[in-house]
Amino acid sequence: MNELSRDPPELVERERMACDRVLKSGWWILGREVSEFETAWAKWVGANEAVGCANGLDAIELALRGLGIGPGDEVITTPMTAFATTLGIVRAGATPVLADIDPDTAMLSPDSVKRCISPRSRAILLVHLYGCIGPVEELSALAQKHDLYLIEDCAQAHGASIAGRSAGTFGEVGAWSFYPTKNLGAIGDAGALTTCSGKLAAGARALRNYGQTERYHHPLLGLNSRLDELQAALLRERLIYLRIWVERRRQVADRYMSELQNPHVRLMRAPLEKERHAFHLFVVRCKARVELQRHLKHCGVESLIHYPIPVHRQDPCQSLSRDRLGLNQAEAHANECLSLPCHPGLTDGEVGQIISAVNQFKA
Ligand SMILES: *Cc1c(COP(=O)(O)O)cnc(C)c1O
Repeated sequence: MNELSRDPPELVERERMACDRVLKSGWWILGREVSEFETAWAKWVGANEAVGCANGLDAIELALRGLGIGPGDEVITTPMTAFATTLGIVRAGATPVLADIDPDTAMLSPDSVKRCISPRSRAILLVHLYGCIGPVEELSALAQKHDLYLIEDCAQAHGASIAGRSAGTFGEVGAWSFYPTKNLGAIGDAGALTTCSGKLAAGARALRNYGQTERYHHPLLGLNSRLDELQAALLRERLIYLRIWVERRRQVADRYMSELQNPHVRLMRAPLEKERHAFHLFVVRCKARVELQRHLKHCGVESLIHYPIPVHRQDPCQSLSRDRLGLNQAEAHANECLSLPCHPGLTDGEVGQIISAVNQFKA
């Protein structure tokens, strides 16, 4: 599913030099490397500011708290996501409310979001799931109409865009993870948020460092979510390769979309003309998933499930509020989804093997 050690040798060399640079600098946390990476990341995304932090979970908490969202406030999001999305809301002290998904994309259904809006709603948290760009236009309009913030969980969306505009620039703030398996991964944990609001960026900068604005002054009760110089230095080098990596993911996904042909295997909706997906994962649906996964394993093809248990089926989340019509699409997706290998390290030969393995499957 991932081959993190297949990085190009020139990159590994650059990474060694970056580590050396940090070792010689004598400065390990929140220094020059972090601010250089923040500038580079903001530019890459097309936002005014980026604020580095310790991981993607913290980025979500910092985004919400930076917007003043907390106890008593509801945040509408999806049950089909990494657990961190929900956990970030809970950690900010706010209450997640779960909307159902669109079965063709597995992302938030704007109709279901509408049914979840209450007088206590403060924000819609859209996850650009699998690296596909979500329904930003519909949700921006809905957010505006009901005076809600739109927040984007971009942990899987490095390189996803619509009409040339990157994920993370449609809402008030985008939250990013640089966990090693993400499209842009560090050599450890790292995260960031991006925003066009200088006020929000300044607030997040204070919050990530105990709520400190100047030394020993703590107008806010923050957390420790600082970013290391070493991770920032490595991310600066890895960022140089991101465009090529995302392009390779797209090539792999294009082949899957044109060559996968099996009546038992359903693909997700292909990107529209204006959409550029970043294919963090390539997900198909199959009613006989157990058998398909067993068959693939037999053919030497790994697969994973993202995600087998929707958020509302997790023990601490069973009583969360949700769409009054239920979360049926999320449940069906959780029962049938299967992720095929889709990463920049795959060779054309491997992609061909995966395609024939899927096409040979008989339910
Ligand atoms: C990975 C991920 C996160 C959390 O990021 P971490 O850096 O692991 O904390 C949040 N949301 C989504 C959708 C993710 O895929």
